[in-house]
Amino acid sequence: RRRAYTSLAADFGTRLSSTHLRSMVLPIYVYGHDALRADTEPVEENSDALQQLIDDMIETMYAASGIGLAAPQVGRTERLFVVDVMPMADESEVRDLPPQPMVIINPEIVAESEEQTEFEEGCLSIPEVREVVPRPQRIRLRYQDRELNDREIEVGSILARVMQHEFDHLEGILFTDYLSSFRRRLLRRSLRKIAGGEVDTDYPLITKDGEKVPAE
Ligand code: ZN
Repeated sequence: RRRAYTSLAADFGTRLSSTHLRSMVLPIYVYGHDALRADTEPVEENSDALQQLIDDMIETMYAASGIGLAAPQVGRTERLFVVDVMPMADESEVRDLPPQPMVIINPEIVAESEEQTEFEEGCLSIPEVREVVPRPQRIRLRYQDRELNDREIEVGSILARVMQHEFDHLEGILFTDYLSSFRRRLLRRSLRKIAGGEVDTDYPLITKDGEKVPAE
């Protein structure tokens, strides 16, 4: 069974003000920058620097109206992502959601459903591009929380969608990698513009060549 969603995802959302203090909005690396394809490293120990990075990533996700953000998108190599899918969850989903935002460290997808869903995804690193991507409907994820406690969770629908998208970032995979060569060819011009920072966003960017572009 395929479930049709009307709304778009995965890094994209709406709303949100942040209550985090002393955290910083980091610029987001766009399509074409090597940071998005770089190898990532497991997080081995907790530190003030790790906690600061987590706070900064949550702040950055909210500032960009995103619902997920992975470390490579801010030029880092830690196996770490943050999500807050509240803006995208419908009423029935909200009841079943773990408290948001979630901090996911050293994740491993240990099981996935055969059942797939299609969903129109977006990405803070690929502004203004949205494409339908099929993915497993449910996954079981093993990970560590922000205190590095071991956890395992089974998730479906929007949370499963976003977690798979963010997990892919840790593997150097972007949602555009799943598109047909035909769809990718249609996007070539847009992707080239994005790589050069020729795109209006309300959050700061780092272009393919490492140039910083302030928020619009
Ligand atoms: Zn993304």
